[in-house]
Amino acid sequence: MLLFTPGPTPVPQNVRNAMSGETMHHRTPEFEAIFEKTRKHLFNLFNTDEVVIIASSGTGAMESAVINLCNDTLLNVNSGKFGERFGKIALANGLDSVEIKNEWDTPVCVEAIIEAVKNNSNIDAIAVQISESAGGLRHPVEELAHAVKEINPNIMIIADGITAVGVEKIDVSNIDCLIAGSQKALMLPPGLSIIGLSNSAIEKIGNGKGYYLNLASEIKKQRQNTTAYTAPTTLIIGLLEVLESIEKNGGIDKLYRETACRSKAVREALEAIGLHSYPQTPAKSMTTIDDENASEIRKLLKEEFDLNVAGGQDHLRGKIFRINQMGLIPVYEILWVVNAVELCLAKLGRRKYDGTASKVFNEVFFEMEA
Ligand SMILES: *Cc1c(COP(=O)(O)O)cnc(C)c1O
Repeated sequence: MLLFTPGPTPVPQNVRNAMSGETMHHRTPEFEAIFEKTRKHLFNLFNTDEVVIIASSGTGAMESAVINLCNDTLLNVNSGKFGERFGKIALANGLDSVEIKNEWDTPVCVEAIIEAVKNNSNIDAIAVQISESAGGLRHPVEELAHAVKEINPNIMIIADGITAVGVEKIDVSNIDCLIAGSQKALMLPPGLSIIGLSNSAIEKIGNGKGYYLNLASEIKKQRQNTTAYTAPTTLIIGLLEVLESIEKNGGIDKLYRETACRSKAVREALEAIGLHSYPQTPAKSMTTIDDENASEIRKLLKEEFDLNVAGGQDHLRGKIFRINQMGLIPVYEILWVVNAVELCLAKLGRRKYDGTASKVFNEVFFEMEA
């Protein structure tokens, strides 16, 4: 079965092998050396002033960012499940929350952000997904961050890049906090999240808030190549192997280029067989198709073509399917996916099979690659 869900994503064989060694003790020079190397790679990937690793799923990093960087009112962008979560985290921690809510295919409008900030001087942090995975939507994060900083540079910009870091190059000039998670673009099992921070964020964090998720404690320890609590040693060993694999495969810019080509080629291939791309501004991390037969297509993909793609949640349950584009994906695998979707449409009697999807994928992908 090929796993093509936008998280968890498949863990490459060499990464699984790297994680199969004996358990290491985390307070040893051997592990600290691994930690130091991993940190160096992470600085390259994030381009932020500081980077910290947290032993939690992505939501832990979201909570850590909110409690450490927001003291009063959080403005959160809700165009899907993950954006909604930021608001819930703020309220659960006794903070105020202001939300800009849109349909899941609709990116936030920069003017709406500006208006909200101007209307409420208590807003001291903004949280938004770069790629909102609920509907495969790209928000204009860099643009809104720039606009907000022009109004008030003290407002912290928290960017959830869990399905964006490792997918595309992100301009972090106006971003204070950039979050990544292990089981998406980083091709690891779930359980690790990473937070990139700006110097202004570090200043605002001060002594930090919370206990386990206190960023000040982690910054202090991780600058010494160790962690405040027991490090998730196995996952960090895996992370180093992933980051080294990306290097060996031609570097991060090559991965970004390939992901962009693959993403565009899949979207155009599926549109060529009459399918509709759901988000108004598609993220490169996944291809999201809304279709009345979404459930049947997913079922056929799984039962007849050994492919696991994701569905939708809440009001999009049974209405969309999502194909992962994150990670080091062999071309022959993704080509099988678009071909299988075309075969599904034939099985459903919607369209005679003629190989259009594969043909369009090849034309777009190899033309861009050349
Ligand atoms: C997966 C994901 C998360 C985090 O979810 P966890 O289940 O806690 O790892 C957060 N934001 C986005 C955009 C995601 O795709």
